[in-house]
Amino acid sequence: MNKKKLLDQIKASGVVGAGGAGFPTYKKLEASVDTLIANAAECEPLLYSDKDLIKKKSSELIEGMKLSIELVGAKKGIIAIKEKYEDLIQLLEKQLPGNIEIFLLPDAYPVGDEQVLVWEVLNRIVPEGGLPLEVGVVVQNVGTLFNVFNALKNNEPVISRFVTVLGEVEKPFVADVAIGTSISYLIDYAGGVRKALQDRFKILEGGPMTGKLVEDINQPITKTTSGIIVLPENHYIIHQLEARESLIIKKAQSYCCMCQSCTEVCPRYLIGHDMRPDVLMKSVSIFKRLDTTAYLCCECGLCEIYACPMDLSPRLVARQLKQKLLEAGIKNPHHSAPNRVHTIREFRQIPGNRLIMKANLRKYKVVPDSIKTKLSSSIIQILLQQHIGSPAKPVVKVNDKVTQGQVIAKMENDFLGADVHSSINGNVIEVTDKFIKIKK
Ligand code: SF4
Ligand code: SF4
Repeated sequence: MNKKKLLDQIKASGVVGAGGAGFPTYKKLEASVDTLIANAAECEPLLYSDKDLIKKKSSELIEGMKLSIELVGAKKGIIAIKEKYEDLIQLLEKQLPGNIEIFLLPDAYPVGDEQVLVWEVLNRIVPEGGLPLEVGVVVQNVGTLFNVFNALKNNEPVISRFVTVLGEVEKPFVADVAIGTSISYLIDYAGGVRKALQDRFKILEGGPMTGKLVEDINQPITKTTSGIIVLPENHYIIHQLEARESLIIKKAQSYCCMCQSCTEVCPRYLIGHDMRPDVLMKSVSIFKRLDTTAYLCCECGLCEIYACPMDLSPRLVARQLKQKLLEAGIKNPHHSAPNRVHTIREFRQIPGNRLIMKANLRKYKVVPDSIKTKLSSSIIQILLQQHIGSPAKPVVKVNDKVTQGQVIAKMENDFLGADVHSSINGNVIEVTDKFIKIKK
């Protein structure tokens, strides 16, 4: 096996982390580690995208895992999945080779966070601000492993992904969707927004805990879009996300009662990191400090959506502080490696159902219809940056005919990033430095 050649193939296929911020997979697989963990936790409440992928593509996922284990030279692979998904576990167990095993996770949030996952599965603590490879581990989302299989065995690039569409829609569903498909097409496919809501709704891209507000309903889905969730505009989660930036820190200064409830549930504090959201709030409100522990926050949202009795958001305070620290040229100075997790950790895990109740999401907890056909809108808009790194540069122009899987934008030189491919056959109708539009 020529590792460089295989990594080049993964790079040329545009594979990026499907479960997170889109870190280019070839770069992650350059590592040498002893264990590869397949992240099948899908711990965001409500989403079914990874579960549907496992149900439909389990053998490809395991093949992708075998290839990835070889690439990083690992001794074994572990599929980490919540113990409550018994049907999926049985399906996977039947196909496991000798060097892959299953680890059963509790139904807790955020058990799929990479650093929490590495502790749960291997009892290793990733250093503050560090990566799993520093403790001999690579973590890959199941969607990414499926894409690695397609890249190496079928020479197929990333042109679609599994997306869950639910919330205030008539017919929630989960399907394989062509990259670039518009959110409005997917909401129409779900029967539209429930009539009673009229136009008083907002849309989240991603899960309810970490998703982002959608500004434009014609926005396209990308290689990292796991869900589209429609919520009433007066839902608490929407209310928090719409809080004016200038008010977030002012509210912290006025209302934080230093009760520490946020810290008691903070997953990073509980694995021994120096992340104390109550102290962060004190730094900001009393001492007006640019507290660098903000860098240790994974923005899971538990402090805000689950814990705080005053409706404050240490998460958004941390996000603002990170921005200010970067602007001030201050890097993350924290990199200590705790040797044990907090003693209260095992009593502070937040069960998935409890979180759903607390976040007022019970109404939307349904098993969405699993659609068999691949969906795509008639016009697709493919973003040139769907990954960490630099944007890809267009290599097509208006009026060009393109075919499904053809490269339409490439990375320059050795910049970090991922090539971009057409997800349909069609004609290029617009090219900008941000996106390429193609009509079927
Ligand atoms: S969002 Fe809150 S609970 Fe989550 S890591 Fe950050 S401070 Fe901790
Ligand atoms: S839970 Fe809320 S009020 Fe309590 S310390 Fe944290 S931010 Fe302050």
